[in-house]
Amino acid sequence: MINRRANLAAACYLLLLGVGGAVLAQLAWNSVTRYQSGYAIHADLPTGPPLTSRLVLVVLDGVRVDAAAGMPQLQALASRGSSGVAIAELPSLSNPGRATLATGATPEVHGVTNNGRYSPPPVDSIFSLAKQQGLPVTVYGSYFWQRAFGDSLDSGRVHAFEKELGPSPDAERLAGWQQQICLEMMPVLGDVESGLIVVGLTATDEAAHDFGGESPQYLQVVAAVDTCLGSLVQALGRDDTTFVVVADHGHIQRRGQGGHGGKEPEVVRTPLIFVGRAIARRHGWTARHFDLAPTISALLGLPIPANNQGGILAQVLDLTDQDKATLEAHASEQRMALANGMPDRDQLQADGRRSRAPLSLLAAAWFAALIIGCLWQAGRAVKKLGGAVLVHLAVYFTLYWAFGLGYSLSDIVREEYLNWFFLRNSAAAAIAFLLATRLLKADRLATAIIVTSIFGLRVAWVWYDSGLIMERLMLDLSQAFMAYMDLLHNLAVAVTGVAAAAIARRRELSRRPTPTQP
Ligand SMILES: [Zn+2]
Repeated sequence: MINRRANLAAACYLLLLGVGGAVLAQLAWNSVTRYQSGYAIHADLPTGPPLTSRLVLVVLDGVRVDAAAGMPQLQALASRGSSGVAIAELPSLSNPGRATLATGATPEVHGVTNNGRYSPPPVDSIFSLAKQQGLPVTVYGSYFWQRAFGDSLDSGRVHAFEKELGPSPDAERLAGWQQQICLEMMPVLGDVESGLIVVGLTATDEAAHDFGGESPQYLQVVAAVDTCLGSLVQALGRDDTTFVVVADHGHIQRRGQGGHGGKEPEVVRTPLIFVGRAIARRHGWTARHFDLAPTISALLGLPIPANNQGGILAQVLDLTDQDKATLEAHASEQRMALANGMPDRDQLQADGRRSRAPLSLLAAAWFAALIIGCLWQAGRAVKKLGGAVLVHLAVYFTLYWAFGLGYSLSDIVREEYLNWFFLRNSAAAAIAFLLATRLLKADRLATAIIVTSIFGLRVAWVWYDSGLIMERLMLDLSQAFMAYMDLLHNLAVAVTGVAAAAIARRRELSRRPTPTQP
């Protein structure tokens, strides 16, 4: 009777833990996709007179540094100007990255934290500042520019499109699609006499997702994008024009597919090239994506975006030392405004950890006590129980690897595969659990409690370190993503454990002979 009650309590606990964890995971997820920046400040921070009258910003989608090295048109351009590597901010997704290029702010500050769900950034951008100064803006590219910066673009000309490619196009079709868009944009951009022109070339990203960032298919589409870049330069290259070419992120190459969002070097390192009016010849430097907006501001004579977290890349500008010193003075004025207007991030993080410490410590103590308690309770069956836990861990992580899972956002390959990604994680957890308890004939409920407690310890650590619910700070998403996967693992183990224990109990009852009356 005592045993039955204990089993019932264990089953209830496991279900509560699994469902509670899933709710926490959902809250954590929503806190990222519904994140709103609370950091916007506004200030008038002039840079000086314009250095160029027309600036063309070309955003290549998902072009890696090594792929860029094989683009003849891009390299010809680079040899006439200034080239280096620019590091993308995290998460290394297209829309957060595009918002960073336009605002000089990180996703935490501009508020675009993912590709699908976001509000227009409340901070200043090169678009809002251009509008303020009456500078014409022309955008040809992803619908994102319209959706995120539409209010600032109403005076400009916007040609926004969503991709219209149908399911899994091959490299040939992708290259053709890019070529067609290129042909359509040339006459439109050709008669833009001055101001800021933004062009997005996106076919490369599609190819990389489907075939990987080192695949021949990807390189074929990279070549098509390079051809387009060449004709763009030919159509717009004038003495009074400056070109800035950058990629929003790179791509991994894993199991014949690509992906981005994480912090892999091949993903966060991107090419960055300046060429034309007011550009010096200097190569081999490293910059960050948030340096682009203030540098574009300096080139066009716009104010520096108040929330800009980067710096003006003075090394690429063809200026006298005195002009550079003046620019630096403006830049430091902006840094002061930012420091005064924004809270101390390190302090916020330290405060957050301090306030989460008691609860995370309590959770860790609870999970540790459960692990020790279950092993203690097992008595002579402790070897079976311990063995089952070890087998579960070994099988789960082997399947995790075999199913192509990982703890980086890049491992998801495509956002459309998100649910499939999570489903594989749950399947790996359930299979590992069933196999382990069957092989070692271990107590299912006790095994499930120990296994979920081990993963619970890891979640407690992430909870303490970065707080799963992102409110004011957008902390390391790969760590939060790991905790998310752990919570889904626990849900799968809890449900499988309780179901398996219930089935076993029913079988046992039906096998037991009914007592006969004497
Ligand atoms: Zn992409």
